[in-house]
Amino acid sequence: MLPEGGLALDRSGHDVVIIGSGIAGLRAAIEAARVGEGKADVAVVTKLQAMRSHSVSAEGGTAAVLYPELGDSLESHVFDTVKGSDYLGDQDAIQRLVEMMPAEIYQLEHWGMPWSRREDGRIAQRWFGGYSYPRATFAEDKVGFHEMQTLYDTCTKYSNITFYQEWFATSLVVEQGEFRGLTALEMKTGELLSISAKAGIIATGGAGRLYSFATYGHSSTPDGIAMGYRAGVPLKDMEFVQFHPSGLIPSGILITEGARADGGVLLDKDGARFMGKYAPEKLELASRDVVSRAIITEIEAGRGLKDEKSGYDYVQLDLTGIGAEKVKERLAGIREIAMKFSGIDPVKVPLPVRPVCHYMMGGLDVDIDGATNVKGLWAAGEAACVSINGANRLGANSTAECLVWGRITGAEAARYAARRGVSPVPAEAARAEEKRVFDGIFHGRGGTNPYDVRDSVQRAMDKGAFVYRTEDGIAEALRTVRALRKTDFLHCDDRSRRYNTNLTNVLEVEAMLMAAEAILASALARRESRGAHARRDYPRRDDVGWLRHSLAVFSAEETEGGHVNLAYSPVKITKYQPAERHY
Ligand SMILES: Cc1cc2nc3c(=O)[nH]c(=O)nc-3n(C[C@H](O)[C@H](O)[C@H](O)COP(=O)(O)OP(=O)(O)OC[C@H]3O[C@@H](n4cnc5c(N)ncnc54)[C@H](O)[C@@H]3O)c2cc1C
Repeated sequence: MLPEGGLALDRSGHDVVIIGSGIAGLRAAIEAARVGEGKADVAVVTKLQAMRSHSVSAEGGTAAVLYPELGDSLESHVFDTVKGSDYLGDQDAIQRLVEMMPAEIYQLEHWGMPWSRREDGRIAQRWFGGYSYPRATFAEDKVGFHEMQTLYDTCTKYSNITFYQEWFATSLVVEQGEFRGLTALEMKTGELLSISAKAGIIATGGAGRLYSFATYGHSSTPDGIAMGYRAGVPLKDMEFVQFHPSGLIPSGILITEGARADGGVLLDKDGARFMGKYAPEKLELASRDVVSRAIITEIEAGRGLKDEKSGYDYVQLDLTGIGAEKVKERLAGIREIAMKFSGIDPVKVPLPVRPVCHYMMGGLDVDIDGATNVKGLWAAGEAACVSINGANRLGANSTAECLVWGRITGAEAARYAARRGVSPVPAEAARAEEKRVFDGIFHGRGGTNPYDVRDSVQRAMDKGAFVYRTEDGIAEALRTVRALRKTDFLHCDDRSRRYNTNLTNVLEVEAMLMAAEAILASALARRESRGAHARRDYPRRDDVGWLRHSLAVFSAEETEGGHVNLAYSPVKITKYQPAERHY
């Protein structure tokens, strides 16, 4: 049964359509709009208002080598990133990131970015975990907010960029291996429309809401990842989920690594500093996987504290030694967050923190230009896996990746579009999607509450795919997710057409189930410990068997492996042979 209004409408064809308006999507839009003398007609589709994308909450910094004359070097940034990735990052891609980043920092500056300053007036940088030089470029502790503001402002200068804000993309349209456009629900009217375009870029961000304790906004669900996956793009290295050491109790809001970089220390229940046991040299500024494992080990050994209200175990992050003045100047955002959300002033009292889901190293499989295996389709930012982050991302490298691959994919997509004619989204594809969304979900008659399904997925992921993992734990979570997928949750209680977030939430839950299965199936298969994937039953890294990228390929038919077929691809090693990591 189709809704009133009948057939899907088609918006006039654009040259390039970008799904997502975070740092990656906006940077891509600007580049696509200015390539080829600004001839490309660019569209940005975003389920939120653009400035509400999760990128606005990036706090601590964006990595780039700005001061080679003072001792930093491109080579050092490359090596730190390779080491941080536990040798799973592709070294040619990492090299490209590092080489392109300094220009991005100055480009943002020219567009109006208010970078924090050193005393001599030049751009300031701070330490971040896993680096050999303080190269996180920052604007207080509100880096993402200012970067987004700068990019969004710049977008408004281009009359060839059209924003579709609060449009929820539901599917990609791919015909004979070529991208044709997408379908999207206009939230304001509840109408499903198709948008044809010659080229597409998925920039839908990470999927941290697969876990209950997460630093992410509630909108960070794997919609774009699942759309690409369904359309035939493999998901790469999905088992690598980053847990940031310092999620604030009880909300999970991030306390930036910048807090430790500026002098914050981690303490056990008795006030003893413990990182010396785990990373004698780098201490609190070891890479995130190392610090998160240390915290969990301390908690398991009975040296943590318990928050009775939330039930969470935690350790203390002590910023009292930094000095009130410096906290107010450089960490004003997290001080405000701690006071508002936990009632604690970190200038006076240590903060309760525990590891929190913070980043997806995995994502849509793309090559070094951000291109997927679907012709005319690119992916950039956290939704993509290039891969520069390998098994563990270094802080400040993600906003950097969004800028660099936003720029690269924007240019690539615009150039590709310039050579192509328009081919509108076929009406049958749009009708099939209308049937799926309206007949299948809006008018669906499922008896299971989709929000219970969402909570159960989160619980399964919290339990089976957290900081430490085991064969039994992952297998149990996988069984749960597969069973949940079979429940009859596809329905919608809200009968209204306008702003029906109940309907979009169900679409998000569907995407969560797909991504969760890919994460768990990839994690179960990888019998080694590398970066953020720490298996208690296989505690060592195994370069002979596992120095390779996992690829989860979607299968519409259910087989023995559920809907996932696993394949593998080689890691690109140019200069640095795998070595043991010490911090
Ligand atoms: C709290 C926090 C702090 C961080 N701090 C730092 C930091 O200091 N330095 C650093 O380098 N990294 C940091 N990160 C990581 C970094 O911010 C993110 O990886 C990055 O901003 C992701 O940007 P993105 O452009 O890929 O997507 P996002 O900013 O996540 O945006 C996703 C976009 O996709 C759109 N979208 C999603 N689904 C749909 C759909 N179905 N239809 C239409 N649109 C859709 C959304 O509307 C949104 O516009 C932090 C992350 C968090 C959560």
